[in-house]
Amino acid sequence: NSQYDLIIIGGGPIGIAVGLEAQKNNLSYLIIEKGCLVNSIYNYPSNMSFFSTSEKLELDNIPFISTNPKPKKAEALEYYRRIATSNNLNINLFEMVTGVNSEDEEKHVVSTNKTTYTANNIVIATGFYDIPNYLNIPGEQLPKVAHYYNDPHYYATQKTIVVGASNSAVDAALEIYRKGGDVTMIVRKPEIGERVKYWVRPDIDNRIKEGSINAYFNASLIEIKEKEVVIATPEGNKSIENDFVLLLTGYRPNFDFLKKIGIRLSIDGKQIPSYNDETMETNISGIYLAGVVCGGMETHKWFIENSRVHANMIVSSILKKQKKTV
Ligand code: FAD
Repeated sequence: NSQYDLIIIGGGPIGIAVGLEAQKNNLSYLIIEKGCLVNSIYNYPSNMSFFSTSEKLELDNIPFISTNPKPKKAEALEYYRRIATSNNLNINLFEMVTGVNSEDEEKHVVSTNKTTYTANNIVIATGFYDIPNYLNIPGEQLPKVAHYYNDPHYYATQKTIVVGASNSAVDAALEIYRKGGDVTMIVRKPEIGERVKYWVRPDIDNRIKEGSINAYFNASLIEIKEKEVVIATPEGNKSIENDFVLLLTGYRPNFDFLKKIGIRLSIDGKQIPSYNDETMETNISGIYLAGVVCGGMETHKWFIENSRVHANMIVSSILKKQKKTV
């Protein structure tokens, strides 16, 4: 069983970017992805448009051609799929990494649900889309509750609560309203989130103002029952009739996975993993971080546009180390 120069955990856009860079530099590598190729993007809402223009989503300057100013999910799937197939990237899909044990700084043993591998270096590019921020309220486990939104048709004519006020919540509320759903938003703050795309903001503000979409501000959901929900509002608790609940309150990286590997997390509540800004190497020699996982709880901080450069930083660092040891 030969030892890889590097193993990349996660086959999202950034894991793929690292794989491409490794391949170009003749490093032996393997990408291990627990789901399908670019699994997070595959699970995004079916009608979503990126907020980035297509050239900012490109990897390794391979052109991403789109006729839309902002590409759609299906186009991004097409683009990343073609990159993986036309470059024959070495990816194992539907294989989950369960842990990494570092025997020394040049020997890391990766365990998966199928087997084990060894590598001189590890890149963790596991993103943040697998674990929702749970509200931990009674009724959250009911079948009518979802933490991911896919398609508006499902909610047509149904009394639907959308909790949250960020881009995902606002996009879902507008789409469901336009497909005949009866939407009520529950927003913890006094207004819609400040990071909502500037071209979407007037649409949501006006739909709320005219009453097409109901909204409770300074409010929170405190209980979900079969046929109603209970909301805490500044005027006291209110019970309203309800069919479906979408809890779009964000997602977080798998901190337990990082901690188990031995990566230090900041203790200021943000749980930012420790890494060197120039090389992306963590506190464990030979283990690197890439992509949105680097942000800890600040999941808005990194995205494809600004984290695709991690690929080059990491591979340069690995090559430099190799030169030293030759
Ligand atoms: P991910 O794409 O999340 O990939 C991580 C991968 O790791 C996943 O496929 C996951 O299945 C896999 N994985 C996790 N744990 C394991 C494990 N233990 N073993 C094996 N595999 C594992 N960014 C932009 O730049 N522009 C945009 O317009 C944009 N729009 C967005 C819209 C939405 C609705 C959302 C939610 C995000 C958007 N983003 C955008 C953010 C963008 O999706 C992320 O920046 C991008 O997916 C990050 O890539 P990544 O490779 O770091 O992580």
